[in-house]
Amino acid sequence: MHYRRLGSSGLQLSALSFGAWVTFGTAVDRGAARELLACAFDHGVNFFDNAEVYSRGEAERIMGDALADLRLPRDAFCVSSKVFFGSARDPKPTQRGLSRKHVMDACHQALQRLRVDYLDLYFCHRPDPETPIEETVRAMDTLIRQGKVLYWGTSEWPAEAIREAHTIARRHGLSAPAMEQPQYNLLHRERVEVEYAPLYREFGMGTTTWSPLASGVLTGKYVHGVPEDSRLATPGYEWLRERIESPEGRADQKRVAKLLPIARELGVTPAQFAIAWCLKNPHVSTVLLGASRRGQLEENLAALDAVGKLDEGVMKRIDAALAPG
Ligand code: NDP
Repeated sequence: MHYRRLGSSGLQLSALSFGAWVTFGTAVDRGAARELLACAFDHGVNFFDNAEVYSRGEAERIMGDALADLRLPRDAFCVSSKVFFGSARDPKPTQRGLSRKHVMDACHQALQRLRVDYLDLYFCHRPDPETPIEETVRAMDTLIRQGKVLYWGTSEWPAEAIREAHTIARRHGLSAPAMEQPQYNLLHRERVEVEYAPLYREFGMGTTTWSPLASGVLTGKYVHGVPEDSRLATPGYEWLRERIESPEGRADQKRVAKLLPIARELGVTPAQFAIAWCLKNPHVSTVLLGASRRGQLEENLAALDAVGKLDEGVMKRIDAALAPG
C-alpha cells in the first residue's frame, strides 16, 4: 500500500480506501463485512468510509460491529461519517440538513453506531441552502474542539461554497474544511480537474474520491444487460439502474467500450485500469473503493500495481478515446 497526505494536513491515508455505500446492509451482511474489512486492512487500507444515510444507519452499525469484532487497533485506522440526508426513511425536520442541531445529533449517533469515541473524518454530505454556512462551520469547529471529530470536510459542494467556509473559518479563527469528497472517475472529471483546481493551491484541500468504477459501469459489466447479483438489481436503487440504462448511460457505456482494449493491452482488468487512472491524479488523496464481495476487493486493491503502466502515452490515448465525437 502507498500512503498519501490528506491535502496539506498531516494525516496519512492509504491511497486506496474502502466504503460502505449500497453494499453494507444489502449484499454485505455482518459476516461479509468482517471479511471485507479484514481483507482491506490486511492489504494496508487504513480508511473506512460511511454515512448516516447508508442503509439508514445500518451500514454504520454493521461496520462498527465488524471493526469491534476484528479488534483493529483504533490508532491504526480512520473512520468517517457524513451528515445531511438523515438516517430515517422520513427524517424529522430537525434531523436533516446542516443545522447545528443535526450536525451535532448525527455525529453523536454515528459515534454510537460505529462504536468509536471520535470520527477521524466527518463530511457535510451535500450543501444545505437552508442553513447559513457560518452555522455549519461553527458546529464542526465545536465538534473538533470537543475531540469528537479530527478533520471535517464537504462532499459535492460547489467550489464557491467551500471558499466561503474557509473565509468564515479564517475570519473567526475556526477549523476550516480539510477535504472534499467528490465523485471522480474516467466518466466524471470536470469538478475535480477544473472546478476545484484553485482550491488545492489556495487551501491545500485533500480529496477522498468516490465511485472510481462509476458504480461498476467502468468494468464493462453492464454492456450486455444488468446481472441479477449487481447493485443495479438492489431494491431501493432503481434510480441508479434508470440512470445507467438512460440514453446518457448508454452513451457512457459506448465510451467505456473504447477503453477496454487499452486495459487489455496493458494486461490489467478494466476495474484495475479505471482505479489506477484515478490514482494518477496527485490531487486525489485516496480513492474510495466499493465491493460487494472479496474477489472484487482483491482485484481492485491490485490496481496499485497498474499505476506504473499508465505512462504519458497511455494517458493521452485515454483522453483521445474519451474525447467527444
Ligand atoms: P465503485 O464505483 O467502485 O462501485 C463499486 C461497485 O462496483 C461494487 O459494489 C460492485 O457492485 C462493483 N464492482 C466493484 N469491483 C468490481 C470488479 N472488480 N468487477 C466488477 N464489479 C465490481 O464505488 P462506489 O460507488 O461503491 O463508491 C465507493 C465509496 O465511495 C462508497 O462505498 C462510499 O463510501 C463513497 N461514496 C460517496 C458518495 C458521496 O456522495 N460522498 C457517493 C457514492 C459513494 P456489484 O455489487 O454490483 O457487483
